[in-house]
Amino acid sequence: MSNFFVPSEVYEKRIAKCKACVYYKDLLGNCSICGCFMKIKARISHQHCPKYYWKQNDFGMDSIRPSKHIPVEIENEVRLLWPDIKSGRAKDQATKRKMFELYNLIYNGGFDIRSSCHSCVNTAFGGIKQYIEKKIGYEKL
Ligand code: SF4
Repeated sequence: MSNFFVPSEVYEKRIAKCKACVYYKDLLGNCSICGCFMKIKARISHQHCPKYYWKQNDFGMDSIRPSKHIPVEIENEVRLLWPDIKSGRAKDQATKRKMFELYNLIYNGGFDIRSSCHSCVNTAFGGIKQYIEKKIGYEKL
């Protein structure tokens, strides 16, 4: 299984948390906070609960780490992107798609770059922010 998806034992633990949660809606199996369908979201390793009742690296999962060798061109694109997303909101659709693309490249992710899912956008934004904090440094922007 690709590392985009969590193994079944992790998925089952995430789903069990959701099913015991007051925000879980039995009828459709979605979360009333993020709106996501949990049978899908809980399978995606890059995801987390919006209330942090479960996180990416719970249940024995490693934290999502960037690929070891990021080409300088990609890193430069992250620098160029940052001013247009640093408020936490991409300035337009093209910027959001670029954010997803860079996130997928850096973290070997598989997000649909046209997604409007809030959790996916937050995950991509958080990943880019973390990459800047840990690998580039705000002073080098
Ligand atoms: S994602 Fe979090 S808040 Fe939403 S139903 Fe699951 S445990 Fe509850």
